[in-house]
Amino acid sequence: MNERQIIDHIAALSAQGDGRLIKGIGDDCAVVAKDGRLVWLLTMDTIIEGVHFDLAFHPPEKLGRKLVSVNVSDIGAMGGQPVFALLSLGMPKTFESFWFKAFAKGLADGCREYGCLLIGGDTVASPQGFNCTLTVIGEAVAEQVIFRSGARPGDMVWVSGSLGLAAAGLELLKRKLDRAGGDFGPLVAKHLDPIARVGLGRCLGESGLAHAMMDLSDGLATDLSHLCKQSGVGARIAAWELPISPALIEAARLTGADPEQWAVCGGEDYELLFTAPAEAHGRLLELGRQCGLTLTPIGTVTEGEGVVLRRRRADGTCEEQGIAYQGYDHFRRCPAGKPGRMQP
Ligand code: ADP
Ligand code: MG
Repeated sequence: MNERQIIDHIAALSAQGDGRLIKGIGDDCAVVAKDGRLVWLLTMDTIIEGVHFDLAFHPPEKLGRKLVSVNVSDIGAMGGQPVFALLSLGMPKTFESFWFKAFAKGLADGCREYGCLLIGGDTVASPQGFNCTLTVIGEAVAEQVIFRSGARPGDMVWVSGSLGLAAAGLELLKRKLDRAGGDFGPLVAKHLDPIARVGLGRCLGESGLAHAMMDLSDGLATDLSHLCKQSGVGARIAAWELPISPALIEAARLTGADPEQWAVCGGEDYELLFTAPAEAHGRLLELGRQCGLTLTPIGTVTEGEGVVLRRRRADGTCEEQGIAYQGYDHFRRCPAGKPGRMQP
């Protein structure tokens, strides 16, 4: 079974009979009615030593902040504001207290920066390595929540920021090439200490411009496939529109990688992926400017299903390639060549 099949199996067994539940399994957060105007948003993410981080090059303070960022990213992806957090710590008995204190400082700083209060958790010994789960509870105005399921044929597909940076940063760190070039700082920072786009998510929620939204954690190919499946639509992406930075191209040249592959399949960028009607184009560019982020239209939502990547041939014609679910999967048996998170 792959990751998607495991989650689908659990979803099929879970009862959804509570009248307060607006959305259960299948979106970035569960959505529960709070009062007439507001909803609770609930999400949880785990990081495991050797899977999500390598102690050899991940400074503990940055890891603590990253745990907060990857969680609040899911709250931002629905247009909400993080409010509370619960922390579960699994620590090897041999842990170093200076390492733990730096990790805890990063976590506390992250919570403060995103406006979220740590209110509880659990602490246990772990026989194998360090693992940690954060649960974050957020809130949003009910009518401003943006689900994965709202994309409509004819919408434009948008992403914030630049794609593939985290995958490239990880590759540079693994090969000890992170100081080999002039401008690799943003790539390395994207893997070690990403910034969740919570402010942008809230602005999009308030604007009412986006039909569907999620954050990019498993790579564009897989995450857009999730969004399309939840919306009952397909998507066509233009390779030449992908926001690929010069530093990414330089990192790919240095490591023998393909920058387009990083942009399409690389995980952990924690940028926002959303769809909006074509007439919102100008207002979205302006909204991005107000939030200090570049927003890029990269394709269109289509009838049917599947995600297709279009590339231009030298003669001006286009070729199309299906890329559905070609990003990161924790349970893929043969992950060779897939950039993104560290493989188990
Ligand atoms: P994200 O990448 O946004 O964190 P995931 O791919 O981890 O989302 O999860 C997709 C959906 O499946 C979410 O609604 C999440 O809550 C749910 N989910 C994932 N794992 C489990 C699980 N073990 N039990 C129940 N629900 C799960
Ligand atoms: Mg998500």
